[in-house]
Amino acid sequence: MTDRSSPPLRAVRIIEAKCAICGKPVAANYRPFCSKRCADIDLGRWLKEGYRVPTDEDPTEDESGGEGGGPTGQRS
Ligand SMILES: [Zn+2]
Repeated sequence: MTDRSSPPLRAVRIIEAKCAICGKPVAANYRPFCSKRCADIDLGRWLKEGYRVPTDEDPTEDESGGEGGGPTGQRS
């Protein structure tokens, strides 16, 4: 009846970095990817998205919250 569940404290400290493309463990030389190929894939995605989405919006949209109200509802 007694369920002995010992939390793996040691395992918590270790953060396994996985490749965002294929999910394999990343290589130190190609962080945060596992290989140059995955890095190229990610880069290609970025470029494509950059070309498809025009930069019409203001880069500093997170600075002022005058329209629509504050996101966090901060009162002063
Ligand atoms: Zn990969």
